[in-house]
Amino acid sequence: MKNIRETVIELCNKSDFDVYMAMLDRDISAHRLDKAKQEEIVKKSMAVANDCYQELITKYGELTPIKYAIKLQVPVIYVNDKPTKYYAYLGLFEEKNQTITLNLETMKLIKELVFQYNLVDLVDVGSLKSAVTAHELFHYFELVNPNLYTNQKIIDAKIFGIFKTKSQLLVAGEVAAMHFAKLLTRLKHTPLVYDKIFALGKKQIV
Ligand SMILES: [Zn+2]
Repeated sequence: MKNIRETVIELCNKSDFDVYMAMLDRDISAHRLDKAKQEEIVKKSMAVANDCYQELITKYGELTPIKYAIKLQVPVIYVNDKPTKYYAYLGLFEEKNQTITLNLETMKLIKELVFQYNLVDLVDVGSLKSAVTAHELFHYFELVNPNLYTNQKIIDAKIFGIFKTKSQLLVAGEVAAMHFAKLLTRLKHTPLVYDKIFALGKKQIV
């Protein structure tokens, strides 16, 4: 079995495209789609992330994610919510009040795990908060731009196998949010590394 460091190195070395294809493959509603459709979803989601990023730069110049949130008047609140066995999160975007919530407790745990597992040379812990802020900021873009690709009904689904309907694929939004976070923070590795470390270390925490 691979140890934690080997697992993290493998993820750090993967291309963004491959990381996102794996996300689709793990998704219950996307993993049955054929490869061509999965590739199309990943490419279009990455393009949406890039468009939103370019739009921000054109409008406000190069800023940190938190400063973009201020410019866009999206409130950012900080909480200390201890993760449980069933519920853990780094950040949230609440549509109702259009607010980003950052969970400092989970971030602290990830930072501790990075030191404990000796991953300091691989993982950029200094960008963790920015990456989470940027990820949630993308969900804000989804809310205010209903026409974004990730908001569209992008797969055919059959309800009870009878009625054909178009269904929205939430994982497309997650791919785009992840990619948007990578672009904004200029991270060398995928932001998914943070989630992975948390998933690997969770057992000893909760
Ligand atoms: Zn998300």
